[in-house]
Amino acid sequence: MFGEGNSGKERAAQRPPALAPDRPLVDPFGRAISYLRVSVTDRCDFRCVYCMAEDMTFLPKHEVLSLEEIDRIASAFIRRGTRKLRLTGGEPLVRRGIIDLVNSLARHLKSGALEELTLTSNGSQMARHADALFAAGVRRVNISLDTLDPDKFSRITRWGRLNQVLDGIAAAKAAGLQVKLNAVALAHENADEIEALMHFAAAGDHDLTLIETMPLGEIGEDRVDQYLPLSTVRRRLAQRYTLIDLPHRTGGPARYVRVEELGLQLGFITPLTHNCCESCNRVRLTATGQLYMCLGQDDQADLRSVIRRAGNDDAAPGCAIDAALDQALDEAISRKPKGHDFVIDRRGARPAVARHMSLTGG
Ligand code: SAM
Ligand code: SF4
Repeated sequence: MFGEGNSGKERAAQRPPALAPDRPLVDPFGRAISYLRVSVTDRCDFRCVYCMAEDMTFLPKHEVLSLEEIDRIASAFIRRGTRKLRLTGGEPLVRRGIIDLVNSLARHLKSGALEELTLTSNGSQMARHADALFAAGVRRVNISLDTLDPDKFSRITRWGRLNQVLDGIAAAKAAGLQVKLNAVALAHENADEIEALMHFAAAGDHDLTLIETMPLGEIGEDRVDQYLPLSTVRRRLAQRYTLIDLPHRTGGPARYVRVEELGLQLGFITPLTHNCCESCNRVRLTATGQLYMCLGQDDQADLRSVIRRAGNDDAAPGCAIDAALDQALDEAISRKPKGHDFVIDRRGARPAVARHMSLTGG
């Protein structure tokens, strides 16, 4: 089904599951889980300075979930009330068979169980895949773009080429995809370029979201040095533009304003402030099947073991695997913490959370 050389057992596990109880996943603080982000690979064709070390060691293939396993876990979430699914990474478009996975998951769009299937990408491979994504039912993608300066772009991404990403953005738009741009705010690289990015986004009819650097994973760079508080950016922008607060919320850490002069929707993701936890509706699945109930905490549930254990039992039909998953989801969500403890300061050189963003998915 996914063209990755799957075993018969995995194929059998794809049989339509028995109907699971229609119980939404609600955590102990009354927050319903309706949004799942899935990192489909830890690999990437870039090495962004805030995300990865240059000499990253990637996971051996057997540790990474197969496309069937991703589909199975995502489908379990959808049965329990997930309405929005975002594929991310690493770079999701470098995962072999990614379009097969998107096509398969799209059945939940057709059935109406899923409201949105979307993707966060660095854009490098977007030109090749944009039409297929649209044909599958994807309507919006996020593409990361931290600078419009080719040299800076190469410096920030280490291995990327700006033109390739600009082509990817244009291809996505031409295919009919709505493109939101994401830019990580970096004190020394793009602080002076935020306005240029805003103008670029407005001209292309894209929304733009600025992201504060998060202390995730060892990257061999000084994070304190890169950290640019978005409160400062917003204050500066407010001196030149009319920023109108928008009520629109996603349940995530983004707050939106409308930039009147540009007709631009501008988002601020400030995970270091505790302004988002109370409405958090999301969980994250790593490429290895670990479910993180909070981006800023280390507690996780090992869903890969759950499905591989159940899948190794020859007597277990597909529905038994789903039942085991269901139980694991209940148990995991009962442990979703109230909030996170991100801190970037000069006392601790170590990141607050040891895993990289590319493993958990941004
Ligand atoms: N490769 C894709 C991309 O770059 O869009 C998807 C994965 S990437 C991990 C998702 C988002 O996380 C990107 O917008 C990236 O800029 C952001 N990101 C990565 N590391 C980060 C960090 N340490 N702090 C804040 N944002 C980060
Ligand atoms: Fe790759 Fe995205 Fe991380 Fe950059 S931010 S290294 S593109 S995963």
